[in-house]
Amino acid sequence: MQIADNCVVAIHYTLTDDSGATLDSSADGDPLSYIHGTNGLIPGLESDLHGKQAGDEFQATVQPEEGYGVSDPSLVREVPLEALAQIENLSDGMQLQSQDAEGRSIVLVVESIGSESATLNANHALAGVVLHFAVTVESVRKATAEELEHGHVH
Ligand code: ZN
Repeated sequence: MQIADNCVVAIHYTLTDDSGATLDSSADGDPLSYIHGTNGLIPGLESDLHGKQAGDEFQATVQPEEGYGVSDPSLVREVPLEALAQIENLSDGMQLQSQDAEGRSIVLVVESIGSESATLNANHALAGVVLHFAVTVESVRKATAEELEHGHVH
């Protein structure tokens, strides 16, 4: 069957950036399963999967606007080191769990540490990145009523 809304779709994928470096891949594990048409995947990849069927292989290039968004400079902040005093071994590249104004959990990456403040970046690690996917469709089936109610694959 062809991929349409409310199908459970399983894919294997490898994600690379413009330089060809692998950013993520399902190759070493289970395929990624999601319910089509429920924002389970980034929009640019989901739209390319529409109408495909099991066994199809394809390449998809996804621009940041259809991927993890463009990088937002307002999400890069200088924070006084005093405010970070409770964090042990604060270092460049460290990922800090935090919450945004609406209480959703977010990840802040420590970009640099100065003598009095640190630069924290709340952008998604893949914001602003053009994404290149190599995708194989493993299986397609209708979601059950229970899966649709729960919003996830069983
Ligand atoms: Zn469930």
